[in-house]
Amino acid sequence: MLRTPLYLGKTPHLAVGVRIPEVFLDGILDGFKDERAAGGVMLSYHRETAPEYVINAPPGAYEITRGHTGTSIRRYIELSVAKAKEKEVAIEVEADHVSVTASATDAVRRITGGRAVTKLSDREVEKVLEYIRDEVREAASTRNIYFFTIDTCELINHAADQATNDEVSALFKDQVGDSGLLNRYLGVDVSLGGLRLKFDQLEVKRIALKLYRSVEVLERIYRIIREEVPWEFGVEIAFDETPNITDPKELFFILRETTERGVPVDFVAPNVGFQKREDYAGSLEELYSRVKVYSGISSLFSVLLSFHSGSGRTPFSMKGPGVHDTIRRATGGLFKYKVSGVYFELLMHLMASHKSSRVRRFFEEIYDEVLAFLEEQVSVRGELYDENLARLLEEHIRLSGNQGRYLVDTPLFRHYSFIALNMRRDGKRFIREGVVQLYEEEPEFKASVDREVRRLTSMLVESLGFTGNAASVRRNI
Ligand SMILES: [Zn+2]
Repeated sequence: MLRTPLYLGKTPHLAVGVRIPEVFLDGILDGFKDERAAGGVMLSYHRETAPEYVINAPPGAYEITRGHTGTSIRRYIELSVAKAKEKEVAIEVEADHVSVTASATDAVRRITGGRAVTKLSDREVEKVLEYIRDEVREAASTRNIYFFTIDTCELINHAADQATNDEVSALFKDQVGDSGLLNRYLGVDVSLGGLRLKFDQLEVKRIALKLYRSVEVLERIYRIIREEVPWEFGVEIAFDETPNITDPKELFFILRETTERGVPVDFVAPNVGFQKREDYAGSLEELYSRVKVYSGISSLFSVLLSFHSGSGRTPFSMKGPGVHDTIRRATGGLFKYKVSGVYFELLMHLMASHKSSRVRRFFEEIYDEVLAFLEEQVSVRGELYDENLARLLEEHIRLSGNQGRYLVDTPLFRHYSFIALNMRRDGKRFIREGVVQLYEEEPEFKASVDREVRRLTSMLVESLGFTGNAASVRRNI
């Protein structure tokens, strides 16, 4: 009998965000099955999901972005496991982006582009660690969690980049003061393709100043997980939620320091220049050489690369022509790839074009509710407000003035419609519940959702080269 869920080890695979498991799991798991593929199912712990006590709290008790899928940690795990057993598909259940963030709202702002830098005090960090322990406990209580992605990008000290040499030396002595650390880097001399990896003293001090706190807290989160999860699990480091493309030396530093601290890392996600829900717009040659360097560095530590923000401009755009092929070549096929937003986007597309008037009417209701909510956020400077939202809203209104209402494909709707699932009426998540109800009551709608979700999953697996990977799972553990 097939063991599922399980720890996939370093098996290259696709990991999928199951935002509405009741609606997406059938298609996702059938897609995996069609491709004889093992895959991951996940949600991000600082945005998409949250412990039950957050999900069940009355409206307004938490920011709207916290647990914004309305799906609790327990729920996505239990539903995924039940479905995977029923369909006999090998899955790994992942806790994605177990993160230190000032608030979930800041996390979403950062992704959509217009965010200010926040600085967390030691006390705030302790509070976040308590919350993380709650999350990990709920996941562990299902006995079916096998992978954790840890994200401490919020603690990166970006000011270190601008500090003068004297400031760097003084601050290093003050804040890091670890002479053993310097020795770990001064002897490094590695050639990787066109890049020679070599550090001078000031460089090490600057990088350490920038990343030290982030690494320290990363280790603490790992220890929390270790305490709460008494079985074998894997770890990924998310280093992608940064304003800039990752500097190879910083990637080396992160992996060297986590190794030093005994954190066993399977995957690492640098910022390779991908934007969520946009195709990759840069040059493929540059992407190739960048990824080749990252891949070379991570292989020094027996770690594989993970690509986040894998959703493209449209559900089936595959991040743009040639992108998957480029990262496959640059990594020799040894990588992991994550998508999440793409499934909700696909659902909106399907509802907008559905023949049944009931489905179409509900889509229009969702659209009107989302627009009204975003307009209000801008007018009262609400928790989602920033310049980026205001700009996208203005642009959306201009476009719909010219092209009519119900445009699913504008940047505003693509980047912000996710919030629909957490909108409440009389305390209930009426949109989330309504979508599940439609899926259950309208057989034709269910059939089209299942078919398209399956087609998308299978297309992703194939495009990424993960077809047939189920056969190699045991070897990679
Ligand atoms: Zn990420």
